[in-house]
Amino acid sequence: MEKQQMLYEGKAKQVFKTENPDLIIIRYKDDATAYNNVKKASIDNKGLLNNEISAIIFGKLHEAGIKTHFIERLNERDQLCRVVKIFPLEFIVRNIIAGSMAKRLDIPEGTKPNNLIIDICYKKDELGDPLINNDHAVALGTATYEELETMYSITRKINEVLIELFKELGITLVDFKIEFGKTLDGEIVLADEISPDTCRLWDIETNEKLDKDRFRRDLGKVKEAYEEILKRLKK
Ligand code: UDP
Repeated sequence: MEKQQMLYEGKAKQVFKTENPDLIIIRYKDDATAYNNVKKASIDNKGLLNNEISAIIFGKLHEAGIKTHFIERLNERDQLCRVVKIFPLEFIVRNIIAGSMAKRLDIPEGTKPNNLIIDICYKKDELGDPLINNDHAVALGTATYEELETMYSITRKINEVLIELFKELGITLVDFKIEFGKTLDGEIVLADEISPDTCRLWDIETNEKLDKDRFRRDLGKVKEAYEEILKRLKK
C-alpha cells in the first residue's frame, strides 16, 4: 500500500490517503509537544517506538474483542488504518490521580480514588482542550447521548484490559487518553494511538515514570523510558 497525498498533519502524526478510499496510512513523527504546544521538542526515534508500542497494544485490544481503526504496522513509522471520522472528544481514564486533575483539585499525585474516573475533553487547540460534560458534548454537536454511552462503555472495557496487560509487565496504568472515530459504515471504533505519549505508566516497584511526563517535567531519559515500555511489551 503506497502513501498518496497528505490529508492532515498533527503534532505527532501525519495522515495520508491511499489508493483504497477506506484506508489511510498514519505516519508517526518524532515531534513531542506538551502544555498545549508551549513546550516542543523532537525525541530521537519516538515515532518508531510509539508506532510499535501502539500497534502491539491495539493488537491486544483486538484480541480482547475491542473494535479499532488499526489494521497493521507497515514499517518503522507507518500504520495502515481504516478511515474514520474522529469525534472531537478525548476520553481520559484516571485510575490514580495525577497531572491536571491533581493540580486542578489540589489532590496529591498518586492518590487512588475509590471510584473510576472518566473525564471528557473537547478537542479544540484554541481553547486548550477544555474539560466538558456530556450535556456540553451534545450541545456542541460532537456526539449524541447514545454515542457517548457507547464510547464510555468501550472506554471502561479498554481500561480493564489495559490495567491487566500493564500489571503483567510490572507497570501501573495511572491514566490514559483515548479517541474514537466512526467508520464509513457508522460503527464507533477506537482510533488514534495508545503509547507513552498518551498514558501515564509507573513502574509498580519503584514508581519510576515511564511516559511523557519525563519530557513534560524535564526528568531526562525520555527515549529510554519509551524503550523500556516496548521491551516489556515484546516479552
Ligand atoms: N493526555 C493526552 N493528550 C492530551 C491530554 C492528556 O494524551 O491532550 C493524556 C496524558 O498523557 C495523561 C492523561 O491523558 O496520560 C491525563 O492527562 P491530564 O489531563 O492529567 O493532562 P496533563 O497533565 O497531560 O496536562
